[in-house]
Amino acid sequence: MDCLIAIDQGTTSSRAIAFDLDGGIVAVSQQEITQHYPRPGWVEHDPEEIWRTTVATLRDVLDQLKGENRQAAAIGIANQRETTVIWERKTGKPVHNAIVWQDRRTADICAGLKEKGLEPGITGKTGLLLDPYFSATKIAWILDQKPELREAAKKGELAFGTIESFLLWRLTGGAHASDATNASRTLLYDIQAGNWDDELLEIFNVPRAVMPEVADNCASYGVTDAALFGRAIPITAMIGDQQAAAVGQGCITPGAVKSTYGTGCFLLQNTGSDIVRSSHRLLSTVAYRLAGHSSYAIEGSIFIAGAAIQWLRDGLKLFGRAEESEEMARRASDNSEVIMVPAFTGLGAPHWDARARGAIFGLTRDTGPEELTRAALEAVAYQTHDLLEAVSSDAAFPLGIIRVDGGMTRNGWFVQFLADVLNTTVDRPQVVETTAFGAAFLAGLGAGIYDRLGDVSSVWRLDRRFEPAMRAGERDARLRGWKKAVSQVLSHGD
Ligand code: ADP
Repeated sequence: MDCLIAIDQGTTSSRAIAFDLDGGIVAVSQQEITQHYPRPGWVEHDPEEIWRTTVATLRDVLDQLKGENRQAAAIGIANQRETTVIWERKTGKPVHNAIVWQDRRTADICAGLKEKGLEPGITGKTGLLLDPYFSATKIAWILDQKPELREAAKKGELAFGTIESFLLWRLTGGAHASDATNASRTLLYDIQAGNWDDELLEIFNVPRAVMPEVADNCASYGVTDAALFGRAIPITAMIGDQQAAAVGQGCITPGAVKSTYGTGCFLLQNTGSDIVRSSHRLLSTVAYRLAGHSSYAIEGSIFIAGAAIQWLRDGLKLFGRAEESEEMARRASDNSEVIMVPAFTGLGAPHWDARARGAIFGLTRDTGPEELTRAALEAVAYQTHDLLEAVSSDAAFPLGIIRVDGGMTRNGWFVQFLADVLNTTVDRPQVVETTAFGAAFLAGLGAGIYDRLGDVSSVWRLDRRFEPAMRAGERDARLRGWKKAVSQVLSHGD
């Protein structure tokens, strides 16, 4: 029993990764999953494909381990959060495709509840905003597709779960549970009381009979059905992906910040046992719950991070591979004053302007692909600056080191610019698979292999530290330029 397996079921792929007990990766398997866009603004996944790819990647990793004479002690699940599945308890069959977190189909339901003045009360209990992003309105939408679904739900014949819960059910042959971090993204969970809230269930018209039990992030969730993998493997941890990354980055003390740069960017600051209420429409959320005690985080997101690089690659065809962006940025002219605001789908925290759209400012005759590329990378750093400014003023922790991960942080030019603009030390870990590592570590904690959460710090290893090196005058001038550019793309309610 010398390794731990993480299932990392994400928005674009299902992965299984095995780690040795020192946090090194020993086996990886990954399969993409299909995105379904049945209508504009709608995004679905096929739960059966999520299941198939999860089992296949897990089998692949177990085979690789066998080849190396290794054995997994436990499994931890990290998952895309908020994505909603409803299935029949009798057959385990989903009654509808999974509605993905990005899906906007329930915008009108949310607007209606807002008109009734319900948002402040809901935010007070859940730490979230009244938005289609979260699970509650997605559950009600599915149940309202057919009268018999609502009836069946009330009679307790249907089960709701976010992805970790659906996978747990399938892996164990019928355990119905969720964890506090995933529960805290549904709009149905009181993050202070630590349970499903009857008033919220009523507001969102969700029958209590469909809800899973909520457990700590480390718990004896069950064991895998022996028929699946030849032996029963205990599942000892479940956690939402961004929280998993925070644990994997060792952000376990109040004030610690991690920022993940994939397609978008998610920044979380640990706020300890305090629920910090944001005055910038950031989210308050459960960071983890261990031995019945919840720690919280404040969370903000940038919609377009690596996606801006994808756009330069696939839309403008400025280069063939994302990693070329680093060399391009290094080659860009120092005189360039190009500023790109990649507000392709509006701006998130702290601007919250859904109607803002992107723009490029400061073009001159000698602006070329290099200057545009550098401007795209810079924009992600500027947005992080704005987000962090909001987080710092809400949470009032002195700004310490920031730990970064995600595909974009392979770009050393970007991470250095980030340190410069934030005027803060930025650390990049050796294992950038922090989501999977967080889930695997918690599985080890749940299985008694690690003694305490703090052990994660001895397993976390630094790859490279980036110290800020930009002169204050230059930073201020750049940030002024950025702020002006942002003010020009805001819709001002138009
Ligand atoms: P996700 O989990 O959201 O799919 P990843 O963490 O795998 O994202 O990161 C992929 C994203 O990072 C892509 O949007 C890609 O454009 C960007 N990316 C990958 N490598 C680099 C790089 N060297 N420089 C800049 N961006 C990069």
